[in-house]
Amino acid sequence: MSDMYFLGRKCIFCDKYGLYKLKDKRLKCKHCNKYYSINKLKRDLQILYYFYLEISARKTASELELDYGVVHRKFNEFRGCIYDYQNNEAKRLNGELELDESYFGGKRKGQRGRGANNKAIVFGIIERKGKVYTVIVENVKAPTLMEAIKSKTKKGSVFYTDGFKSYASLHQYGKHNIIRHDKDEFVKERNHINGIEGFWSYAKERFHKYHGINKKNYPLYLKEMEFRFNNRNNNVYKLLIDICIVRRVV
Ligand SMILES: [Zn+2]
Repeated sequence: MSDMYFLGRKCIFCDKYGLYKLKDKRLKCKHCNKYYSINKLKRDLQILYYFYLEISARKTASELELDYGVVHRKFNEFRGCIYDYQNNEAKRLNGELELDESYFGGKRKGQRGRGANNKAIVFGIIERKGKVYTVIVENVKAPTLMEAIKSKTKKGSVFYTDGFKSYASLHQYGKHNIIRHDKDEFVKERNHINGIEGFWSYAKERFHKYHGINKKNYPLYLKEMEFRFNNRNNNVYKLLIDICIVRRVV
């Protein structure tokens, strides 16, 4: 990839054509006045592309002939950008919402609120046919879950949960449908939490791939899964360029 490769291209910062070359060989955009250091940008875009494809840092490093530490740091930097983006973009969910908790990490299957020592408890809310929101919680007690619900959803929404006791006061905040194993097909069709369960499978499959994520990095990985899931029908690479590169250059 030579400098000429960039000269006829759109500026990635403002999406207009107008890059010109400075004496020091950097490129500058005549519209937004941002500079490009070609080599650094080229490298970052390549690493980002492998990240987008969910290729491991180790494989990325070997294919791009880069130091593993460099790639690993970049991947975590991208995750940090996604984390901030997710937290800033988050709007209150509303409409038909499915709620559930799940345990990530650790080997043993624990009961709710117990045996969860090694695990992160994740609380999730999904809008049917919409976005998911997740948060790592300390416990699954009613005040904890209700606080998350009140801060992330609109009052008067329609909530679907299983019969777990921590959801008992939810009817005060909206319409509460409790999933029962009903024989009535019509009830079954609407009364389910398949959406949030689908997200748990999606996220866990990916967590498995990175065996041994440090527990302190769980929030970063979780927000990445949330981001990928919520943008599964969008051009994710373009969005990643915007979030991880364009917005970071001042
Ligand atoms: Zn520009």
